This record gives sequence, structure tokens and C-alpha cells, in this order.
Amino acid sequence: MSADQTKTLIHKVKELKNTLGRLQTWWRQQAKVRWLTEGDSNTAYFHSMASNRRRCNRINQVLDLNGELTEDPTTIEATFLHFFEQKWLHVNPSLDGWPSLADKPTLSTVARHSLLRPVTEDDLWNAVKSMKPNRSPGADGITSSFLTHFWSLVKTDVCSAMLDFFALGVMDPSWKETLVVLLPKSLNANSPELFRPISLCSIFYKIVAKLLVQRLQHILPSLISEEQSAFVSGRQISHQCFLAQEILHKFRFSTAKAGFMALKIDMTQAYDKMCWATLLKLLHGLQFPPQFIGWIMQCISSPSFSLLLNGLRSRPIVAARGFQQGCPLSPYLFILCSELLSLAFQQHGSELGIALSSPGPRISHLLYADDILIFSEASTIATNKVWGILDSYCAWTGQSINAAKSFVLFNNATPQWKKTRLTRLIGFPRVEEFTYLGIKLALRKLHKADYADIIRKAHSQIQAWGSHHLSLAGRAVLINHSLLASSAYIMSHALVPKGVLDALELAARSFLWQRSANARGMHYVDWASLCRPRNCGGLGFHATVTWSGPLRARFAWEYLQPHQSLFVRAMHGRYSENLFTCPARRSDSAVIKILRDGAASLLSVSRWRIGRGENINILADRWIQDRVFARLPTFIHSQLPDSMLLSEMLTEDGEWNRSKLLQFFGPSLVDTIMQIPTYPAVGRDRLELNFQHSGKTIASMAYAACFPSPSADFSWLSRLGLRPRERLFWWHMALDAIPTRCWLLRRGLTDSGLCPWGCPSPENRDHIMRGCSNVAAISRELH
Ligand SMILES: [Zn+2]
Repeated sequence: MSADQTKTLIHKVKELKNTLGRLQTWWRQQAKVRWLTEGDSNTAYFHSMASNRRRCNRINQVLDLNGELTEDPTTIEATFLHFFEQKWLHVNPSLDGWPSLADKPTLSTVARHSLLRPVTEDDLWNAVKSMKPNRSPGADGITSSFLTHFWSLVKTDVCSAMLDFFALGVMDPSWKETLVVLLPKSLNANSPELFRPISLCSIFYKIVAKLLVQRLQHILPSLISEEQSAFVSGRQISHQCFLAQEILHKFRFSTAKAGFMALKIDMTQAYDKMCWATLLKLLHGLQFPPQFIGWIMQCISSPSFSLLLNGLRSRPIVAARGFQQGCPLSPYLFILCSELLSLAFQQHGSELGIALSSPGPRISHLLYADDILIFSEASTIATNKVWGILDSYCAWTGQSINAAKSFVLFNNATPQWKKTRLTRLIGFPRVEEFTYLGIKLALRKLHKADYADIIRKAHSQIQAWGSHHLSLAGRAVLINHSLLASSAYIMSHALVPKGVLDALELAARSFLWQRSANARGMHYVDWASLCRPRNCGGLGFHATVTWSGPLRARFAWEYLQPHQSLFVRAMHGRYSENLFTCPARRSDSAVIKILRDGAASLLSVSRWRIGRGENINILADRWIQDRVFARLPTFIHSQLPDSMLLSEMLTEDGEWNRSKLLQFFGPSLVDTIMQIPTYPAVGRDRLELNFQHSGKTIASMAYAACFPSPSADFSWLSRLGLRPRERLFWWHMALDAIPTRCWLLRRGLTDSGLCPWGCPSPENRDHIMRGCSNVAAISRELH
């Protein structure tokens, strides 16, 4: 290189650096673009930016009270105000004829005490911290990030305000001034009921609500029936969704003459219609301390709402019922009230419901927040009974059924005349299949087309992101945390056909490497390698087929635990309690297949803790040295029967029976076995995790176990503390996945592997890093 060329080069590099620096400042000033400070790895940011649900919140036209479209802002405001005033109007719920609360456990002294314990500074700080930062502020304009940032300055004032509230039990009306944002539920929403009201509460209100939630959460599990699984700690949407699938499986194959029916009930604006008098009576009935009830009622009663319409605040409306969507307390108070429905079913509808097997529990209804699913034999008597319960529940709470959005499904064995008659009696539309908690339920085998939504969603996500403005690192984050993650729920809860999973991976793969929808990009690294964990040289993508097993391992783990939910009890009546030895049958449901799949993944990360050995199969189960005996055939006597249980190797006292062991195993192995502790006093055999205290989830342990020994260790890469973009560059380098001449030659994309700058040697990674004399010269000049 000539002296002039060198000079120009140095000049150009300087210029570029300057421009980049200036650009960076400019970007930082664009407050909404936070790539630079928060890096490419800010997944929440990606989510918010990438969400294609972002809709225009302007309300341009609306159907007025006479049903005519209007664009006049005053009429639009009047229409909305009228609608919400009607909705939050006071009604008198019926407080008589309630189911008895006597069966409910009474609150212990300890529980009552914990509800009333004094508020400490730590409690406040936890409440403030638990709020999501940078959420839209309420009428007071204070966000939680403001409080966390200036906590040392404001904590004294915040504390004294809170202590005042908890001591006096009276809330300043200004705390209850709430802004209501209206989010359209569908495109082109043009009437008030097509908007979801979200409350932006003031910060003080939110702190109080959070403090009350923290106290309430602990005692809910003992008060709420197990049919309700939303918002109760320790209960899961998964169990609800599996239970519904399993019942539908029974629907499909049952030949019972009477037939079965399932009713899905939609309540019109369930949260907004709940009556406060109902809650008050219920809280007293459940023996909550009066002071605590006072705090709750102060929070929820008489809030003042101002609607935010096209950026302007309407005049305030004072509500007379309903729990606000956006207040942290609402979900908990709602499920407390919905407990009346469960109680009514338990006390007045014991003959309703369907049992999966004769010893198992009858399941009459499943609740998930305001989502109601009812099961019963198909008969006029049962229908009347269900209607009686629903009518009373509506009268007690102020709820009302939306008949147009509710529906009924009969199983195939129900006679046609009965279907017609009962449908007329029920008054809901009849369906053959429906979606419950995101999972499709039908009376037939589900096909690829039934899951087409997964692919459609993935493509529309990709389209919304676009690929022009995203770096490879950015695209990798989107794939892992959004594209593949968003289908994880369906993938783990339903038997999604492989074709769908393949199509999803294909979409992810093309998005990663393609520059635009039409251009074909170069795939530098194959998909299987990308799906390896980062310390094994991949990008940690979760390959759908490999991942579904580990995701399901948690379900299998819960199935094998001694404390059992309604779902597990119902399943145990029908299937074996030991998933590892549970034989596959043709009539098996999707749920048991999912659980068995999970168990197969669980096998690699768990072992049995021996109680009496009654659940442990000697050959098939893992109870020694983290191995399954069937995989170590040389150690065992060939006459050991396949079905032999470990209990036969134990004495009456639960100790190892040495002579019995010696019949089947070699002496040295027997010595090893004798070292394994047994816990006869516990009785039941229990599964335990191999790495109990690693802090990892079962799914991630099981996923890691799919990649046993990394051929090369890449953990150095994450230890360097680089930004995602830089890390990705070195990752490319380490994998030799860069378009050098040699690389291109291997793929047939060029005809010479020699360095294009005139060196006599091939251009490969080492050559461009240090071998190339041109590169060496340039870097000498630059330093
Ligand atoms: Zn060269």
C-alpha cells in the first residue's frame, strides 16, 4: 500500500468512527429507541416493539345511541359516557339463598394476624419494586420507575401516607381518581362494548392494592375450590387445560346411552358487573378480620373514572359496582366472588359432572378466572339443574350470561332428538369443537390444518418485525424469545403434528438468514447446531421437536408428586400412577401421551428415592447411579422378570435383602446397591431431581440433558461480557462461519479459494485473522 493510500485509509477510518459516535448520540436522544443502552438482548423491548397487536388507539367514529355512525367528538364522548355509566350502575344483588360457607376452613389466628400485621418499609419497597417499570402512569402522572429511582428521597412521605391509610382505614378520594384507556378488542371497533377498558390507577392506590394482594395471596389456596385455577398460587392453567382435554377424550369414545354435554359460559363484562355487596358479605362469611375488609372496601368502592378519548379526559364517572381491569386486587377479589359458583355446584349439583373413571372425582365445572366450563350428562333434569345454579349465581353477583357467545357441545353418543331438544332448552348455539384456554378441543383426531394458526401467527410476527432494521443478533433474540417461545404453550399442551413444528422451524430459519422476504439469504450455520445450548456452540434456540419433551417434563413431575391436584387425582383413577411403566394402549388420550413424553425427558434428570419400593420397576426405572438397569445388561441375571418391583428386594423393615439381591446381581453390584439409602418410614417412593438445588427449571435441566457432552466448550464466549452483536461476531469466527473464499469454494459459490488480495495462500479464517500480509500491513498502520 502506498503512503497516500494509507493516509486516506486512516482518514476514512477516523471519519467513520466520528460519524458512528454522532449517530449513537442521536439515537440515544430518540428516547424511544433503547438499543444502545439496553443492547440487543432487551427482550421486553423487542416484545413491545415487535408486538403486531399495536393498534391505533384513535377512535374516529362510533355508533351512537340511535345506532347511527357519528364522527362528532362530542357525540362520541357522550356515547361512551352513557355506556360506562350504565355498566357501572348500582344493582342490588340477592344476598339470600346462598350456599353455605360452613364447609370452608376458618381462617386461623396466624392467618388473621398476618392479614393485619403492620406495614413495614420493606413491604412498601417490595410493593413498589413488584410494579412493572415504565407502565403508563395514572392521573397523578407518577410511574413506579420514578419511585424506585428516587426512593431514598420520597420513602418517608410515601411511608407516612401509607401508614395513615392503614391506621385510619380511609382512602383519600384523589387516590381513586382513575384514567380509563379504551383498547379496541377488534379491528374497526365502532361501538363502546367493542373496547376493553383498562384502568390506569394512581400510584398510591396501586401500592395499597399491591400490599393487600401480598397478604391475600397466602390464604387464597385454602379458600378457593380446586376447580378454580387462575391466580391461586400453586395451581396451574396446564392442569385445567389437560383436564378439559381428557374429558373431551372421554366424550369422544364413551358409548354411554344418555350422552354427555359440555357448556361453555361467557359472562358479559364479568369484572365490571361484579357487585360490591356480594364481596362484602362473602368476606364477612369467610371470617376475614373487619379491619382488613375495611381496607379492601375502601379500595374498590366509589372510584372515579375519567375516560381517555383521543387524548382528552372526559368528565368523571363514579362507579357503583365492578372491579377495575388494571387494579392488582381485581383478579383476586373476582375469584373470591366466583367461589359462590363452585360452592353452588358442590352443594346443589352433586349429581352433575363427569368422572373419568368410577373411583375418580366427578368434575362438574372448571373455572379459569371468568372462564366457565360445565360438564354433565345430557338430560333435561341436568340442564334445568345447571340453569338453576347459573341463574342463582347471576342473581347473587350481578353477573349476566352472554348467550350469543356461550355454546353447548354434545358427544357423539347423544341421540339426535336429544341434542335438538336440549339445545332449544339451553338457548346457546351448538358447536362440534371449540378452543379452551388456547387449546383446540374436538370430538375427532386433530390434524395439521387444526394448528395452522401457529404458522400463520409466526408469519405475521415475522412480517410485523421486518428484517431490514434488525441485526442478526436482534433476529436471534426475537426467534428465541418470541417466535419459538410463543408456540411453546400449545406445543407442550397438545399433540401438535410434526409437520407444523417443521414449518415453524422453517419460518424461524429463513427469518434468521434472510435479508428480506424475497431474497434468499446464506445459511451459515445449520439449524441443528443453532439449537445447541450456547456453551455447546449454538445460539440456544429451542428446536421444537427436541424441546417439547423437556417442556412436558414438569407435567410428569407433578403427576408423580404426592400432593395431588384435581387433575392428577382424576387421571390416577384411569391410568397407572407410575408414568415410567404405564403401558401404551391404543385408546390412550393425548394427555397421557403428553405425560409419558414428559416422563421420558424427566428420566434423564431424576431418580427414585426409595420408600418401600412398590412403585419402582427394577429394570425400567432409574434408582441406582443415575442409570436405568435395562441399559446395563451385563450386570444382571437374565432371569430377572421385566415387571419385578424393587419392593421384592427389601425386607419387611424396608432394608435391603442381601440374599435376595445376590440371586440376581453380582456381589460387587450388590455392595453398591446396599449403599443406597432407603426411607421405609416415609413409605411412598418419591421421585427426586438429580440437581435439586441448581436453581434451574425442570424443563431447562431436561433440555440440557439432550446435549450430553459438548464437543467443544464455548462458555468462554459468554464469559467475555460482550454485547450480543459482538458476541455473535466472535461466535461466527469460532465456528468458521464466515464467507471466506475457502468457505465459498466448499459450497461451490466461487471457483478459487485463493486470497483475493494477491497472497499466494488460500483465504480461510486464519488467513484473514493473521496470515494475510495485506491485513497485517493495514493493522500495523492503524496502530
Ligand atoms: Zn491475503
